[in-house]
Amino acid sequence: MANRILSKSELASANGLLTEIRKQLEALSGGDRELLWAFRRKVFKELTYDERGKPMERRKIKEAKWKSQRGLCAGCNGPLPEKYCVLDRLEAMKGYTTENTRLLCATCDTRLQAEKGYT
Ligand SMILES: [Zn+2]
Repeated sequence: MANRILSKSELASANGLLTEIRKQLEALSGGDRELLWAFRRKVFKELTYDERGKPMERRKIKEAKWKSQRGLCAGCNGPLPEKYCVLDRLEAMKGYTTENTRLLCATCDTRLQAEKGYT
């Protein structure tokens, strides 16, 4: 299934919200550039968790996937490297669950991303 995309009016709503958030961050930091940076970073991190889940949750899924795939890449069946293997969502909107993910080597991840038109 393709990812949900925003209609023109939904995109305008999202951009309006973003403008409001930026104004509020500016006001909250009271002209302190370092505080603004820290507030922005905090909001960014939390919104990323909303979309991707927390790193600890993804790590557990990665370990489960490693076992269920017997250390082999789901793309090429080659041995997965100990580091830099990618937990790939089959459908982005369904999130990082054991049912909706697979572990890929970096080469397969790059190839599949290119095929999906993400690069
Ligand atoms: Zn591979």
